[in-house]
Amino acid sequence: MPVEDKVETRDAALVPYQLPFPADAAKEIVIPGAIAEDERIWVPQAENVAFRPLCLNASQGYWMNLLRVRKSGVLSRHRHPAPVHGWVLKGRWYYLEHDWQATEGSYVYEPPGETHTLVVPEDVTEMITYFQVNGVMLYVDPWGKTMGYEDVFTKIDMCRAHYEKVGLGADFVSQFIR
Ligand code: FE
Repeated sequence: MPVEDKVETRDAALVPYQLPFPADAAKEIVIPGAIAEDERIWVPQAENVAFRPLCLNASQGYWMNLLRVRKSGVLSRHRHPAPVHGWVLKGRWYYLEHDWQATEGSYVYEPPGETHTLVVPEDVTEMITYFQVNGVMLYVDPWGKTMGYEDVFTKIDMCRAHYEKVGLGADFVSQFIR
């Protein structure tokens, strides 16, 4: 196709797509103000550690969430058999196993095979990072022995239990599940 045939006038460019989306396509998720001010949205995970779900992708086995750590909390040592992507929105953190720090505005890629312990320094009052976690997180001892795990299904279960407890209702989590 000659390149000029691909160039639309502005008017033509503003005509929306006219066909229905695929019948099997899932519904989009839009979360305004995703760094929630309503404390009930944040699901406690460990002492000073909480997360808020964004997309709990049960069909593909991954989850997108905001991880929030306050008062120098620690996210226990764990192994990732699948990749992780992170974007630091607030504060900073580091892994005991690496010599770099993830500062506000940083993007981090964690390749499959990583085992690490996330620590928020004492002078950081609040850390928030957007994480995509694929597959499973295996909680391990310092020698790699598996002590427990999390996957998208345990995340969903945690959300259900928490939202029920705080009065939002267990079904509150359904809007984040695809
Ligand atoms: Fe991790």
